[in-house]
Amino acid sequence: MKHRFFQIEITRRCNLNCLMCPSRLYASSSRKDMDFKVFLNIAEYFNRTELIHLQGWGEPLAHPEILEMIQIAKEHAVTGLTTNGTLLEKLSSALVELQLDYIAISVSGPETHREIRYGSNFRDIVKNIEVLNGVKREKGSDMPRVNLTFLMTKTNIHELLDVVELAGKLDAGLIATHLDYVFDEITDSLKIFDNPKEKIRFERVMNEAERKAEKYGVEFTHPPFDLMERAICDAHPDSAIVFSVEGEVFPCVYLNFPFDKIPRIFKGNKVLIGKPEFGNIVEKSLEDIWNSKYYKTFRERFEKRIEVTRSLRYILGFKPDFSKLKYPEVCRGCYKLYGI
Ligand code: SF4
Repeated sequence: MKHRFFQIEITRRCNLNCLMCPSRLYASSSRKDMDFKVFLNIAEYFNRTELIHLQGWGEPLAHPEILEMIQIAKEHAVTGLTTNGTLLEKLSSALVELQLDYIAISVSGPETHREIRYGSNFRDIVKNIEVLNGVKREKGSDMPRVNLTFLMTKTNIHELLDVVELAGKLDAGLIATHLDYVFDEITDSLKIFDNPKEKIRFERVMNEAERKAEKYGVEFTHPPFDLMERAICDAHPDSAIVFSVEGEVFPCVYLNFPFDKIPRIFKGNKVLIGKPEFGNIVEKSLEDIWNSKYYKTFRERFEKRIEVTRSLRYILGFKPDFSKLKYPEVCRGCYKLYGI
């Protein structure tokens, strides 16, 4: 079968210390790069997907073998990555030469970037994107396509409008995202969804951002502000595959953490999820992992829920009733299942 995408955590190391990143909970021993041999193990299966995204809970451009990895991935599939942009300047020429397909660069706003993305500076990131754009112009290349990603929080939402304008100037798309992995009091207090009191304020900003995006010709996407239970989350766990630094296989990044118990806060309640074990690509073939009883049972729960959305009642506009159709236990307390 073809998997929707492979996401590969080529490193769990990062040169920044962002406020909302779970890496601040990691033991220092788990901040490491993927061994190239593990990457080659995964590469044996690259013909089974059309999209390879090189990113996990670390900064992919910090991996010393990032260029070799891109080269190998590009031989098989559309390849891209998400970066904090700090190392972009020195790698720009190589990324254009390798014809990386897309690059998503995380920014906050001019005022808030430094306090949210500790260790980096908004102006430097913008300058680095300009360098990349300059190299693309010089070489007459459209690739990599640039997207800015703006993680919306209570403290930076007002700067979304500046970032729309910036995306227009940089000829970039813009993807606004929620702080969807809520794991402690800080992240719980920063999120802006499921907040009836302030929803009107957030929606006003979003409407204005949409108007500006149209004016500047920016391709702009953003998630909803309200929770609504879905049959399956948009991480596509029934088809996509995530590989951790160690080669462990997961259906999504929200299950890939170097903890025995995954902490979540859902609607103010603390939830602890035992880390699932789907298998490791260094020890087993992808078929064995994908067809294991554990993985099949995980997918069957979603398949049954998807079935409900195909019923006539749903097509006629009735809300699907998921109360008797349990999601996989490891998804308990995950906001992604509610459209966030
Ligand atoms: S609901 Fe959450 S934990 Fe479950 S597969 Fe989707 S993203 Fe992963």
